[in-house]
Amino acid sequence: DNVARLSLMLEAGNVFPWYADIASGKIEIGDELFKAYGVDRKEFQDDFFSIATFVASIYPDDRGIFEAIYNNLLAGESCKIGLELRLDLLNTGEYKWVDLKGVAQEFDERGKVTKVLGFIADIQKRRDDEQALIEAKQRAEESDRLKSAFLANVSHEIRTPLNAIVGFSEVIAHTEGECEREEYLDIVKANSNLLLHLINDILDLSRIESGKMEFIDENIQMDELCEELRQMHQMRIKNDVKVIFERPAVSLTIVSDSHRLRQLYSNLISNAIKYTEKGSITLGYKLKGNMMEGYVRDTGSGIPDDLKERVFEPFFRVDKSRSRELGGVGLGLALVREIVRVHDGSITVRSNPSGGTVFDVILPL
Ligand code: ADP
Repeated sequence: DNVARLSLMLEAGNVFPWYADIASGKIEIGDELFKAYGVDRKEFQDDFFSIATFVASIYPDDRGIFEAIYNNLLAGESCKIGLELRLDLLNTGEYKWVDLKGVAQEFDERGKVTKVLGFIADIQKRRDDEQALIEAKQRAEESDRLKSAFLANVSHEIRTPLNAIVGFSEVIAHTEGECEREEYLDIVKANSNLLLHLINDILDLSRIESGKMEFIDENIQMDELCEELRQMHQMRIKNDVKVIFERPAVSLTIVSDSHRLRQLYSNLISNAIKYTEKGSITLGYKLKGNMMEGYVRDTGSGIPDDLKERVFEPFFRVDKSRSRELGGVGLGLALVREIVRVHDGSITVRSNPSGGTVFDVILPL
């Protein structure tokens, strides 16, 4: 009964007994280990069951500490060993974390250890869980740090137009000249629009990030959407840059939230307009496998190679003063990236530092 009970307990705890005979250098390992890993004990030759083979199967970085502890036991300086190490005892090519415990069991007439008895417990799952927790904690800390940085940026960005609104409103009250009043009013109006734009973008971004934004799926005819976007943006252009819709051979209908898809394309086209002084802006889409690849291409200033990934970060701008001058708040591409993420899609940017940028967005149909 006791043997059966003990066996059950060992099996439940993934614990495998062993003993080492010091004089012959042999190790005896219980059948439980072979059973647990589904290997046939007979596959292993006699020389497998030796202390030397056991030591060789310890992960090289952990071998030194094992040998130090084991030698202490042999020298009679301690009567127990206990350490966690990585082991590939069954030659699977994969090291597993184990808890190795042992105790000096028999001694010769001079008091030297002759037999050590112990067990190996498989603790790989615990180690994996610990690692997952460490990584989750690091992610949470990183996200907390990013949130604080975001908040600091938000306060700074809000203060700039707000100061202009408050300051110029006061000046207007004391200004007599009609022309000057008009000029100051324009400044207040421009900064109010900027502030409104900024607050809308911040709210959208935090609603998407916190999963609170509702996406309502509907069938969207891509040709209609692109043509409408083309017309709308062409009207806003003051120079002679052309907005072109490249109609594909095969028209697509995509299931998505039309408001958000429009916002995605609009942000990309608005940027293209902002940073393109001459030439054209081309938008379009094509079928790619079972995905849709949308694109917005311009002949504008381009983005330096090393900053291509950073343009998706909130408030990152290649040239801050120029972006502000053009009415940018630095959240357009961060929002695009979030909309793409929610749709399980991806976005990449290709750009020529000498001019021309293409944003490619891949979305499931
Ligand atoms: P912004 O409001 O400043 O346009 P975005 O998040 O939309 O903010 O874009 C971030 C930065 O990426 C911009 O400030 C600009 O430097 C760069 N950028 C975005 N789109 C383009 C483009 N089509 N051509 C050149 N630079 C671009």
